[in-house]
Amino acid sequence: MPRVLILATTTGYQTRAFGDAAERMGIDLVFATDRCHVLEDPWRDDALPVRFHDEHGSAHAILEAVRKRFIDGVVAVGDRPTVIAALVNEWLGFDGHLPAAAAIARNKVLTRKHLKEHGLLVPWFVATSTTSDPQAIAAAVSFPAVVKPVSLSGSRGVMRVDEPAALVAACYRLRALLNDPEIRGQRNEAHGLLLVEEFIPGREFAIEGMLNHGRLHVLALFDKPDPLDGPFFEETIYITPSSAPPAMQDQIAAAVAQACDAIGLWHGPVHAECRVNEAGVYVLEVAARPIGGLCARALRFSRADRREPPIALEELLLRHALGESSEGWAREDLASGVMMIPIPRRGVYRGVTGLDDAKGVLHIEDVRITARPDQILVPLPEGASYLGFIFARAGRAAAVERALREAHARLGFTIDSELRVLQSANG
Ligand code: ADP
Repeated sequence: MPRVLILATTTGYQTRAFGDAAERMGIDLVFATDRCHVLEDPWRDDALPVRFHDEHGSAHAILEAVRKRFIDGVVAVGDRPTVIAALVNEWLGFDGHLPAAAAIARNKVLTRKHLKEHGLLVPWFVATSTTSDPQAIAAAVSFPAVVKPVSLSGSRGVMRVDEPAALVAACYRLRALLNDPEIRGQRNEAHGLLLVEEFIPGREFAIEGMLNHGRLHVLALFDKPDPLDGPFFEETIYITPSSAPPAMQDQIAAAVAQACDAIGLWHGPVHAECRVNEAGVYVLEVAARPIGGLCARALRFSRADRREPPIALEELLLRHALGESSEGWAREDLASGVMMIPIPRRGVYRGVTGLDDAKGVLHIEDVRITARPDQILVPLPEGASYLGFIFARAGRAAAVERALREAHARLGFTIDSELRVLQSANG
């Protein structure tokens, strides 16, 4: 029975989706997750414990382990294990992204440099130490600009600034975020830098793609219909197929293919974000991994003859890891979309109303609330989560978007201020 190694931050939803896909395919999975070595198998899930910050050490540990349980392919879920996955692929002689390319893709400064060297459109950018004086940068750059971390994801720490004082404040705010124990615990050298770059206006798109030996296969082009003009950049709605004119869609695909080439990404999943305006297509980033977590549920694929029921993205990823080209597969015919439900304000999550009502909206397939009661909710730019996800499918993209907005409008979230919690605790 073929066996695939899944490298994932935690054993969360997406790892379960891989489990379902593996069962359908009759293949075996083995997991490696980031956790403390001291605790042997703390979750009793038989996952191999590795340390994502120690990329070579983790790849060695995996190699040692797979001597006994040989694997036939590797899939990385999330940004942090992409370099480890690339090392394991390289050492075992499997096709995959090269470690150096995966490392560039994880670093926004290196990505900018490579895209620029290869003649792609890039915003102007300045990288600086988090400890240097932001006043000097504020005096030297033009506005509007964006201040961002070099190696976080999900728009965390990304801030638009329109004048020098705002830039200085944003640099201090980002410095505080990067000093957070959770982020320091990642022991990523790139967290010692911050990036200041030109704000690029325009329409935003995301591409989910698969590279087959250097050739980009666009699995889905997503529109992001909500304006993303800052000051923070919370992703909300992703809809596919895109309503952009075909020529623009071709331009976006061509720019992402060029960006993959510039970074050196070669074989495996990619997720790219682009902005398009009169100047052309700006590829903001290309991650060497698939779309994150629950959002993958918005994607299903069929073969050209449409004879079998569609498969999940996770199944396509497993097939690719086992050597099958993605090119025999195409996204299903239905339009599909997901809303990542934004956190409106900081506070303690208590509960939700209107869930059944929201689920009852025409074209809504599911509403999943992932926030847990009593959890402290942290909005962007510091936060790293959503309240939940809404999924819709319909014949047309416009109907999907309407359904997502309608379902969201029916939900009511109770969020208590932390102050009130403290006051009641004190009697
Ligand atoms: P992350 O990897 O955290 O998603 P990105 O660099 O992709 O970080 O930025 C997140 C979002 O912030 C983008 O999808 C975009 O909406 C916005 N953004 C980032 N950089 C720029 C920029 N230079 N100009 C305009 N918007 C930007």
